[in-house]
Amino acid sequence: MRKNIIIEHATMVTPLGRKARKGAAMGELSVTADATVIVTDGIIEYAGPTEGRPATRPDEHYTLLDAHGNVLLPGFVDSHTHLIFGGFRPDEFGWRLRGESYMSIMERGGGIQSTVNATREASEDELVEKAQWFIDRMSEMGVTTVEAKSGYGLDSDTELKMLDAIERLACKTGQRAEVVATFLGAHAVPREYAGRTGEYVDLIINEMLPRFKGKAKCCDVFCEKNVFELEDSRRLLEAAAAMGYSLKLHADEIVTLGGGELSASLGALSADHLLHVSDEGVKAMAEAGVVATLLPLTAFALKEPYAPARKFIEAGAAVALATDLNPGSCFSGSIPLTIALACIYMKMTVEETITALTLNGAAALGMADRIGSIEPGKRGDFVMLGCDNYNVLPYYVGMNCVKTTIFDGRIVAQNP
Ligand SMILES: [Zn+2]
Repeated sequence: MRKNIIIEHATMVTPLGRKARKGAAMGELSVTADATVIVTDGIIEYAGPTEGRPATRPDEHYTLLDAHGNVLLPGFVDSHTHLIFGGFRPDEFGWRLRGESYMSIMERGGGIQSTVNATREASEDELVEKAQWFIDRMSEMGVTTVEAKSGYGLDSDTELKMLDAIERLACKTGQRAEVVATFLGAHAVPREYAGRTGEYVDLIINEMLPRFKGKAKCCDVFCEKNVFELEDSRRLLEAAAAMGYSLKLHADEIVTLGGGELSASLGALSADHLLHVSDEGVKAMAEAGVVATLLPLTAFALKEPYAPARKFIEAGAAVALATDLNPGSCFSGSIPLTIALACIYMKMTVEETITALTLNGAAALGMADRIGSIEPGKRGDFVMLGCDNYNVLPYYVGMNCVKTTIFDGRIVAQNP
């Protein structure tokens, strides 16, 4: 399949660089009024004024796209999702809306354990087919790189089945987005290990981490009070780092525990959620260069306070935005709603949200050197909007304003 495309006369809007943009620099975008982008074999060769373009003549080997009157952005990077899972939990959502407590829902067979049971029962084919549906929808919203976590198996074989499913999604022919695997065996303490958290951490360190090496790029942990607290999280992540995994944390989501500070002391790629991060955590993450990945859809769905995006930006940290698509707390992969909530409730500027969903999302996956901006040498991943004003991104509250998605130099989604 050819991966050569020339996009002409676009309003090109992109952050620049090969690492995360921090603080005030998040708001600085490069804007080129009449730009041309030339992609050969999936890699951007030229991105700049149409007038200065090299004399590559479009021939039968190149797709030619006229983007006159359209904004061209880098492809969106959704750097935090749980899109592989068995079962669905709509009944539980209804119970929650009627005010049932978390404990009562657990007693009725809801909660994460119900997804764990359904994922253990599901075949790998079923997991792949279901996840592909989400990836296709996300592709229509401009996503060209998506992270997918394991973590609904909580035993070695089911975690492997999830990682194998992710690998199959990542290797599909005609794929619509790159899929990056994260191992999240420490998502919850499985029922079989109730009251024996330390022993479950031992199992992850001694059996799962060595077994999944090479199958997952990152290792993640749900660092939270009464789940995996600071010392268990540190022990797990230090072992993972020693085996070559990059590190991520679900941190300070429910209470202020010190996950932000822990991520900084470990040199993690990102700490995510951060609704209740302390001021010290914000400062430590900014200084250590840990990306703060904020997930406004989850805060919205749970009616929780939004994470302090402005605090992070004012402290000079890099902020990324992601959907947190999962079957429990946040069953949404909506990029448009993520942008609207970030602008309206977290007071991020449109420019900052663009950086957060592109270059900084890439940095949260350790990939900012090859995706996340429109620059020569990077992969040809783009989002073309239906008009030439990028302020439509939050203005279209929850509605999709993406016209065309281009992944790896190929048009992979076109909306009417
Ligand atoms: Zn999550």
